[in-house]
Amino acid sequence: MSGSGSGRDRELGEHRSIPRRDFLQGALVASGMVLGGPLLRAYAADAAAQDQAGYYPPALTGMRGSHPGSFEAAHALRDGAGVPRDLIDTGESYDLLVVGAGISGLSAAQFYRARTSPQARILLLDNHDDFGGHAKRNEFQLGGRLQLLNGGTMMIESPRPYSPVAAGLIQELGIDVEALAQKAAHPQFYAQAGLREGVFFDRETFGTDKLVAGKRSDPAVVAAYPVPPRVREDILRFETGAVDFMPGVPAADKKLRLSKLSYRDFLRDIVKVDPATLTFYQVLTHALWGVGIDAVTALDCWGVDLPGFKGMSLAPGSIARMGFTPAGFADTGGSKTFHFPDGNASIARLLVRSLLPDAVGGHTAEDIVTARVAYDRLDRAGSKIRLRLNSTVVQAANVGAGTQVTYLRSGRACTVRARHCVLACYNMMIPYLCPELPAAQKEALHSLVKTPLVYTSVALRNWEAFQKLGVSRVYAPGGYHTSFSLNWKVDIGSYHSPASPSEPVLLHMLRTPCRPGLTESEQHKAGRAELLVTPFATFERNIRDQLARALGGGGFDPARDIEAITVNRWAHGYAPEYNPLFDPDVPESQREWVRGRVPFGRIAIANSDAGGGAYTDVAIDQADRAVNELLHA
Ligand SMILES: Cc1cc2nc3c(=O)[nH]c(=O)nc-3n(C[C@H](O)[C@H](O)[C@H](O)COP(=O)(O)OP(=O)(O)OC[C@H]3O[C@@H](n4cnc5c(N)ncnc54)[C@H](O)[C@@H]3O)c2cc1C
Repeated sequence: MSGSGSGRDRELGEHRSIPRRDFLQGALVASGMVLGGPLLRAYAADAAAQDQAGYYPPALTGMRGSHPGSFEAAHALRDGAGVPRDLIDTGESYDLLVVGAGISGLSAAQFYRARTSPQARILLLDNHDDFGGHAKRNEFQLGGRLQLLNGGTMMIESPRPYSPVAAGLIQELGIDVEALAQKAAHPQFYAQAGLREGVFFDRETFGTDKLVAGKRSDPAVVAAYPVPPRVREDILRFETGAVDFMPGVPAADKKLRLSKLSYRDFLRDIVKVDPATLTFYQVLTHALWGVGIDAVTALDCWGVDLPGFKGMSLAPGSIARMGFTPAGFADTGGSKTFHFPDGNASIARLLVRSLLPDAVGGHTAEDIVTARVAYDRLDRAGSKIRLRLNSTVVQAANVGAGTQVTYLRSGRACTVRARHCVLACYNMMIPYLCPELPAAQKEALHSLVKTPLVYTSVALRNWEAFQKLGVSRVYAPGGYHTSFSLNWKVDIGSYHSPASPSEPVLLHMLRTPCRPGLTESEQHKAGRAELLVTPFATFERNIRDQLARALGGGGFDPARDIEAITVNRWAHGYAPEYNPLFDPDVPESQREWVRGRVPFGRIAIANSDAGGGAYTDVAIDQADRAVNELLHA
């Protein structure tokens, strides 16, 4: 993004104090500097940090997601640091030890207790300062009112209906997805207020800064795009036309051919668009895949309803050469959907409430939204179930008739024993935790490269600029964040999201760093490397610059209108899914996640990684399988 120097800094408001920004630079902490001060109390990773008064990670702003302090120990282990020799034996012993307190780990604890005994003793360990894994809650107090956004896992949705086990758990937690969707969600709210989708063209990519409100399929809207006439024609032809771009090809062959072409190649070689049209569409696939149209098949794009296929007469249903997400949607249309104001963090919180009722108030799936978690009650001596944060597991081994796990917390290495262990953590890390695994299994686990994503939450003084400009969500093909949208309108229990443009609001922004031209997993590795060295200041600068330029025409002033920023940096985000462009055509049983998840003595492997699908129901189903493997071994 352009513009530098103190004048531009002031215009963008970088001199303005926003909570905690100045102290939470990922690079600063990652470089090993010891930080102090009350704002960082939660980051101090003190052994008892979660027990300290005021410990409340959902309200922290700055660099979140894989926050400073959460990943350094794991990276050191990867880099050969080895497990420390001075081990502190906690003397603790459990029936089950769960590594990773995301939805999969929490579900594993729930299933284990239900299938063994209400007296089961369970310890959950997580390296983050909050539980939920990707299902993380961003909480803000704006204008005296609570406002929420998902820091990661956004909603109940999946390419296929939830399995009986996953649907059963959701029901057991009191979530009636259909009823809540009817009652609490207002999907038409912004449209009824006259706000539409829009596109922001940036001058670096398109020669001028311009926001255009309206659908890409509307000729009057496309006429205002600052692109050459040929590109406008391409866009309209592609979005609205019903052209068969493969005339003469037998219907049955079309899908196979489309599964061997990237969407980009389909546009370039089959639809024959202008190169500038490719630029316009390059990031259309970022939200679902974390990579651009060069790394996703045309058929997979058809499966999730992207434009270009209206006239192709493609028969409904998937073929074998389709990714997990598009194949599921093509076959079933997907699961029921619902977005809690904090996304599926509400599911994580409901699971914690079920496991540790004293720690989370309330009784329903509605009051969970405003319930405050007592973090000091998550890990109490004497409790049958304990949830310990800021604890990175560095070793898991079968020892005697049970298992022993070593974790690092506050610079100390502690051991704990359990009869059974579920590794519900990132699967590609498991070879470092269990070096004695067979080489082929380690190789399979190592190859599970997750998708890096950044979900940025920006607290705004109001949304008057959006109203003036007539947009609620913006596609930004050349932007640092490639899309942004006003927070969902959801009213649930005593939680109410803003209804008037003069009220403060939260903005959700998406960035998925990648490097077009490489394979999908190589792009993810490049993106992750970029995230590791990108400080919060760079995000902040780009957010301010991008919003100033996109919304300036509506009177938006970043110096005045931005109240707080939370950058949810998920270097290890979506679980890997089959990509027909790069992955071999092998049966499911030979996929890396299936070969990698084989139980190992009294240790079983869960997490959505183990199911080859980046969805909450997959995380739950994998917990179910892992627990069954342990109990029926
Ligand atoms: C930005 C984003 C948006 C998403 N949106 C959706 C959505 O809308 N709907 C949907 O269904 N799915 C969505 N997903 C997919 C999401 O990953 C799953 O739905 C689900 O939350 C995954 O749960 P999990 O428990 O398998 O993994 P995770 O949530 O990753 O939990 C694993 C936990 O283990 C911890 N861990 C890892 N290593 C260690 C260690 N050595 N020691 C201790 N702890 C460790 C991790 O830090 C993490 O906290 C999204 C994912 C991301 C990243």
